[in-house]
Amino acid sequence: MRPFKQLLRYALGSPLLKKKFGGLATDIAGFKDFSVKIPLTTLEELVAEKMSSGDPYASRLCENGAALVTLQLEYDTETRLYIALSRQDLKRYAEALRRCWSLLGLGKGDGVAIFDYGTSPVSYLASSAFTPYLSQGAADALGCLPICNDGVANMSQRAVEILKFMRPQALFIRSDCLEPFSIESERQLGRLSGYTRALVVTENEGCLPKAEQDAYEKRLGLPVYRLLRIDAGMFLAMECPECRLFHSWKDLYYVESVTRAGDDVDEGGQNYLAITNWFARVCPAVRYLSQVKGSVYSAGCRRGPADIRIAA
Ligand SMILES: [Zn+2]
Repeated sequence: MRPFKQLLRYALGSPLLKKKFGGLATDIAGFKDFSVKIPLTTLEELVAEKMSSGDPYASRLCENGAALVTLQLEYDTETRLYIALSRQDLKRYAEALRRCWSLLGLGKGDGVAIFDYGTSPVSYLASSAFTPYLSQGAADALGCLPICNDGVANMSQRAVEILKFMRPQALFIRSDCLEPFSIESERQLGRLSGYTRALVVTENEGCLPKAEQDAYEKRLGLPVYRLLRIDAGMFLAMECPECRLFHSWKDLYYVESVTRAGDDVDEGGQNYLAITNWFARVCPAVRYLSQVKGSVYSAGCRRGPADIRIAA
C-alpha cells in the first residue's frame, strides 16, 4: 500500500489532480480499488486545462516539486504542453532508458546512434552531456558511446554516414524518419547488417504496426525493434528480442489496459494503456490514459523474469 499512499500524497500537490481525486486519495485499499476509484486523466483533459488556466503544465505541477528542467511534450495538440522534472525524476526516468538499452544487450564500449529530437527522452536521457541536472544517462551508466543526430527526415544522409563511419551497435530512430533513412541507406550502404546490429523505432504514443516492422526487417536485413514512449506519463518500455513483447518495470510504473470508460479488461484484451508513474514527483502521472492500444501480460520472460510485459 505504501507506493499508492506516497504517490497520492504527492499528487495532491498538483491542482489538477487534487481537483480530480482529492477527496478519494486517502481511502485506497489496493490495486483494484485504485483502478475503480481514481479517475483516468486524458490528453484532452490536459489540453482543456491548459487552455482554461493558462498554466503551461496544465495545472499538473506540484507545489512541493523541485522543477529543474522543462520540456515541451511532443503531442500534436492545438496548444503546446510541457512537463517539468526534478533531479530525482530525471534519474529514475533515465534508469528506465538504461533498462531498455540493457534489454537489447547494449553494454560497455558499444556505440549507440540516436536519430531523434532533443526533446525526445530517447535523446535527452541518453547522456548527462545532453541534459542539465541529469547525473547519469543510459550511456553513462552502461559505458556506451552515444552519437546523436537531429531527428528530422532531411538529416537521413548524415544518419547513414554515422552508421558508415561509426558502426554503432544500434540505431534508435524516430518512426517518421524510418522510410527516408531506409531509402538513403539502400542507396549508400546496401544491406544494413554490415553497419549495425539493430534498429530501434520509436515515437511518442504510437507503435509501428507489426506488419510494417516485419517488412522493414526483411527489406533492411536486420532486426527492427520498437521502443514504446508515453511521454506525458514519463513512460518507456522496450520490445524484448526474446519474447517480442514490451518489457517495463514494476518499481517505476503501474500499467493497466483499460477501455476509454476506464474499466479493466482481462489479460489478452486489446484496450488502451493507462500509466501510473511511481517516480514522477514534479508532474505526477496517475492513471494517464494513453492513445496506445495494448494489453498487459503476465511476467515470466527469461530476459527479465519479474518485468511487466505488454503487447502493443
Ligand atoms: Zn522478453
